[in-house]
Amino acid sequence: MTKEAKKKSIEIGAGLLLYIIAWAVTDLKDVTGAPETVMFLLAYAALSVTTYWEQLKKITKKQFLDENLLMIIATAGAFAVGRHKEAVAAMLFYQAGKLVEEISLSRTKKSIASFIDIRPEYANLKVGETEKIVPPQELLLGQIIVLKPGEKIPVDAVVTSGTGTVDMKALTGESEPMAVWEGDRLYSGSINMNSVLEARVTKRYNDSTAAKIMRLVESANEKHSDSIHFADKFTKYYTPIVILIALLTVILPPMMFIEAKSEWIYRGLIILVAACPCGLMVSIPLAFLGGIGSAAKQGILIKGGSMLEKLIQVDTFVFDKTGTLTEGVFHVRDIVPFNKMTKEELLEAAALAESYSKHPVALSLLEAYGREVDKTRVTDIDEQPGYGVHAVVDGREVYAGNTRLMDREKIRCQAAGEAGTAVYVAVDGEYAGYILISDVVRKDAMKLMRWLRKRDLSAVMLTGDNEQVAEDVAGNLGIESVYAELMPEDKVELLEEFRENQMEGELLAFVGDGINDAPVLALADIGIAMGGLGADAALEAADIILMEDEPSRIINAVRISKATLRSVRENMVFAIGMKVLLIAMAFFGFVTMQNAIIADMAVMLINILNSFWMLQYPEKGV
Ligand code: ADP
Ligand code: MG
Repeated sequence: MTKEAKKKSIEIGAGLLLYIIAWAVTDLKDVTGAPETVMFLLAYAALSVTTYWEQLKKITKKQFLDENLLMIIATAGAFAVGRHKEAVAAMLFYQAGKLVEEISLSRTKKSIASFIDIRPEYANLKVGETEKIVPPQELLLGQIIVLKPGEKIPVDAVVTSGTGTVDMKALTGESEPMAVWEGDRLYSGSINMNSVLEARVTKRYNDSTAAKIMRLVESANEKHSDSIHFADKFTKYYTPIVILIALLTVILPPMMFIEAKSEWIYRGLIILVAACPCGLMVSIPLAFLGGIGSAAKQGILIKGGSMLEKLIQVDTFVFDKTGTLTEGVFHVRDIVPFNKMTKEELLEAAALAESYSKHPVALSLLEAYGREVDKTRVTDIDEQPGYGVHAVVDGREVYAGNTRLMDREKIRCQAAGEAGTAVYVAVDGEYAGYILISDVVRKDAMKLMRWLRKRDLSAVMLTGDNEQVAEDVAGNLGIESVYAELMPEDKVELLEEFRENQMEGELLAFVGDGINDAPVLALADIGIAMGGLGADAALEAADIILMEDEPSRIINAVRISKATLRSVRENMVFAIGMKVLLIAMAFFGFVTMQNAIIADMAVMLINILNSFWMLQYPEKGV
């Protein structure tokens, strides 16, 4: 039980005890008058002091028009008109409801955490020829760990011996196991399936994937409050209206001499109790948490419930090309040295210069080079986003990048003239040749494009690559709006322009991989980053992270958002309908205060159950 819940239970226990004593004493001994009032007042106080106190604190923050206020007025009023027992009973039920609320919220949070069951418990550290079980937090960089079949990988590491398969479902939602060999990266939180592996620690526990994801999901939970601005907006109007109705009930009928004044005061108070939107208030964050949890289970991390609300308002999806719509794995198609260099020498110079870059272009050159890079040969590295890299390799100045880079360095180069992305290389101020690489379009991106077209949502592609490649990819995917040869800052500018042209209530999402586009991710109404594994910038700048490199998961995210908001809406309609009915019944004197509270509890339970259904959503197959 959480601290809050414990406090509430103690309050309720104490109040209940005092209530029973007051009942027993006043009933048996026929106590009336002031002593009776005092006894029930004690019970009432035990149940409500904290609520009163919290409400007082809210007044200073100008947001006190909420369901607490309704309950305070109703019960204090009931007490004032001599309905002591009912006042205490109403408060008692109300607090019990709050307790249920607190418990269901913390349960949901826990179940989300267990959804993504990735927290590793221990690690087998290799010490000489033996192994020692240690907490993952104690592992240091470079240490060797042993992974046995079925064990969770404790920290990010690189396989040093053995081959096997790894189950990454908990991280990415991808159920297909992945084969790993020596030299392959392992992500903490995934599971080593059926062989013994040895691996070298590459990240400490706190910087490892599992810890990062846990932190993200937990902070999304905390931020659930920003999703309730929905609810806040609602109570801001709802509470005053209810108070007005209650006031009119108290004032108007007696003026027309219908029944006694005290009866109408009582009915007005019942209206306040009946109108309390407590169930609704708890079901809303529950639904949002449920949505976030469902998404996490499918490898979609959503930072905060408000993103669910925003996602369904998106009408334009802007995509980065390289690594997002394309695989980002270039294959070297041709190596064209310009003068004395051999093909091997040209590739080596480029690969070494790129050896610190994480850009897809760099990774593919290194892949093609295929050998271990001796990093002592490379110094003065300077990566220039949108251009390429500069480095000193074996004492020689090397530039590798696009024509823009060559132009800037005043190096005359010969245009590749073939389709594909060319990496131009200059050594010691002289043009040395180019390496032609090409990328393939993600099949999965086609699925997303079809889905977007069917729903009349626009797709725009931005890229730093050349026109020809851009047109090629866009043509393949059926994207009409294409912007090529952009610098990272051009992307930011374009996005700002797009946003200005958006219509009211229509939002813009940017989908990228976090490489050279983190500012755009942060700037868009919703930043969606792909491939959460390994890309730190993306994890930080984005609002939604697709753990697996599959753009089509955006479809799932949108569906989950819709389902979440649907359940919120259902709850609102049901709860408000019930409230209207109860208020009418209270007006005509058909319900007592106790019955109004019991009806409230019933509405709350139904609302909560409906929200819990959201958590089940993944099983229903999205
Ligand atoms: P995209 O918009 O397609 O994701 P980027 O903005 O990341 O592309 O890069 C734009 C262009 O800049 C690339 O197409 C490439 O020509 C060049 N470039 C960027 N980084 C590098 C690098 N490390 N090595 C070579 N070329 C690079
Ligand atoms: Mg990019």
